[in-house]
Amino acid sequence: MIIGHLAVSALEHRYVKAALVPVMASAVFPDLVDKIAHYGFGQHASGRMWGHTLLGALITSAAVFILFGRHNAASWALGYLSHLVCDIGGVVPWLAPFVTYEFPPAMDFMTTLWVGLTKPLLLAETTLCVWAIIVHKSEISQVAKRYLRGTSRCTPQQHAEQQGEDLEARGQQVLHGR
Ligand SMILES: [Zn+2]
Repeated sequence: MIIGHLAVSALEHRYVKAALVPVMASAVFPDLVDKIAHYGFGQHASGRMWGHTLLGALITSAAVFILFGRHNAASWALGYLSHLVCDIGGVVPWLAPFVTYEFPPAMDFMTTLWVGLTKPLLLAETTLCVWAIIVHKSEISQVAKRYLRGTSRCTPQQHAEQQGEDLEARGQQVLHGR
């Protein structure tokens, strides 16, 4: 499931310093490409095809390297390959189109979603999500605060006061060596 893939990438950002945007984007990219092609346009025998191949990982990583440099490309490749490894419970067409793969009979989108939501692996995915949220809780709360502040109406003076408080809090953190 997509939340498990995102959790794995969030943990890679935390523990191996993968760049956040590429590692998170490549966590969803294979499913985005293949599920839209399969369920949206009736392409391929399965919701896993071009996006779930080593060739797909290689070509997209090369494109990210050319456009955004080495660190972003390495982060993209890490998120991408982690997605494929996490999908190993089902058929992953690693070497397509050079090798032909047999897929189980296709299910409609709602049945696939139901199977995903009731499988025992969901417990492992939920655990990864909780772990990822715990290690990122300070970033999440900062983003939430910024978002809430952005959406609430405040006068320029209140905004300036809030920024002053933020700077003060940051100064305290530095003083306490955090
Ligand atoms: Zn997948």
